[in-house]
Amino acid sequence: MDYEIFISRKPADGREIKEIKGLPVITPIQVHGADVFFVGRRTARIPRADSLITDNRELWIGVLTADCLPIFLVGEGAVGVVHAGWRGTLKGITFNAVSYMARFTRVKKAILGVGICGSCYEVGYDVKKLFNREYEACFRELGGGKYLFDLKLANRIQLKAAGVEEVEDLNLCPSCQNDLYYSYRREKTEKRTLSAIRLL
Ligand SMILES: [Zn+2]
Repeated sequence: MDYEIFISRKPADGREIKEIKGLPVITPIQVHGADVFFVGRRTARIPRADSLITDNRELWIGVLTADCLPIFLVGEGAVGVVHAGWRGTLKGITFNAVSYMARFTRVKKAILGVGICGSCYEVGYDVKKLFNREYEACFRELGGGKYLFDLKLANRIQLKAAGVEEVEDLNLCPSCQNDLYYSYRREKTEKRTLSAIRLL
């Protein structure tokens, strides 16, 4: 399972990176949904999806984020990438992506990339109430109807449910490490971090 990961850093705007090491970068139109798109030999159109999977070694697949969590999936002969914010997580995007890959390869490893950490992500009861009891441990009550939400833990729960045994956390948070990565919550910026993976 050989793969390569690329994570852009400031001042680069990930939206403008269309090529890495001479190979194209495919990013979807992200819609905070739960759909997975398979990138084959030829990509005729830009997919609307929040996860890409490929077995093509001649390209990178990536997602753009500024707080949301990118997750890399590594299988045998295939890799995947997921864009998981609270909406996509609620809809089960990470579970879906692993399940999709499981049709033809076992996901041996998942890597949690640059995403907002459990100490930086404040949400209201309106968000908390949407998640079922399975996610209870992801919320820490602050009082006044506010909660800290651990998006990485929520996605670990989905990875475990989907059967992924090895999960590596790069421990990178765009809010804690705002000198390196874009945080929409802190900066209200349109710039994004590109998180891409390629099968070697
Ligand atoms: Zn943080």
